[in-house]
Amino acid sequence: MQFIDLATQQARIRQRIDERIAAVLEHGEYINGPEVASFETALSEFCGVDHVMGCANGTDALQLALMALGVGKGDAVFVPSFTFAATAEMAPFVGATPFFVDIDPVTYNLDVQSLKRSILSARDLGLVARCVIPVDLFGLPADYDSIQDVATAEGLFVIEDCAQGLGARYHGKSCGWFGDIATTSFFPAKPLGCYGDGGAVFTKSSELAECIHSLRVHGKGHDKYDNIRIGMNSRLDTLQAAILLEKLTIFSDEINARNRIASRYDAALESVITTPSVPDGLISVWAQYTLRARGGSQRDALVQALRDKGIPSVVYYPKPLHTQTAYAQFPRDPMGLPQSESASSEVLSLPMSAYLREDDQNKIISTLYEACKCS
Ligand SMILES: *Cc1c(COP(=O)(O)O)cnc(C)c1O
Repeated sequence: MQFIDLATQQARIRQRIDERIAAVLEHGEYINGPEVASFETALSEFCGVDHVMGCANGTDALQLALMALGVGKGDAVFVPSFTFAATAEMAPFVGATPFFVDIDPVTYNLDVQSLKRSILSARDLGLVARCVIPVDLFGLPADYDSIQDVATAEGLFVIEDCAQGLGARYHGKSCGWFGDIATTSFFPAKPLGCYGDGGAVFTKSSELAECIHSLRVHGKGHDKYDNIRIGMNSRLDTLQAAILLEKLTIFSDEINARNRIASRYDAALESVITTPSVPDGLISVWAQYTLRARGGSQRDALVQALRDKGIPSVVYYPKPLHTQTAYAQFPRDPMGLPQSESASSEVLSLPMSAYLREDDQNKIISTLYEACKCS
């Protein structure tokens, strides 16, 4: 059994992928070929966001967003500690200070009370409270209404890190819509993945879009030999765009299948363990289906029971960022980050993909059900 089954998905669309790749080999426009613009348009329609710009990966997308907003030295960038390192990494890269904020223990997403305390604390430290990067962790949209209220009141930019949330919905809007800029990743294991690296930046603002267009091509002006700012080189390959165009056609169907599997997991397991909670009005894309054990020793026992039956499970994330060597020096919520720390010691994620077979689902459910009752 695979943790994420990409092979069955490939078998489903292999012929059309082959045709797409053949078309690229035929026209030979490997950089900025027509598939890139077609995919950007298709994704813009899918998410309802005017400007979508492909780039090389989700980490570059975050860097482009920070650069476009002019975030830099002396600025605090508020990030949850319970996330993948890339969320925090680009703040110091552009000279700013990542400031770690705690999470809500039920949704695992940014906690707004912790954000408010952190903004005050950052100002006490002499930093300018500049930007917050909420993450749609495990595919569940962050609490955008509350976050946007705080950001508006305090004059913060919002960057939505929807690397895990593409395809999820928040009160009728698609992830990728939120904030001044949103960023995503097409790493193969993400909800919408390509066959290599890829990413995208989203914005509703034409000015920011123009700036990001320039930044991703060496800070170009009216053409690429006119350089008006320091930029970078970050492109979505034509071949990856061709693959994504095909995958996007089945994405909605896959999101429904993932939600059906999540509902099955919920119904079968909620009486024996804490299953994920999706607030009213939100639809998760289930980048991960994450359970919460009663403590570290029960978590270890469950992982072992699954492993004994050949079932893979993964702990996202075993160490919150504020405890990592590279990030220990950076400031954090003055009340500490107890929810990030306990989540790290108690969560485990189950196999999840639109193609998880029913017999495998049954095996996972019965193994866990038994293991929860005896631990
Ligand atoms: C995967 C991921 C990224 C980075 O994406 P890459 O394409 O691997 O650079 C950023 N943020 C989060 C939350 C992610 O899960």
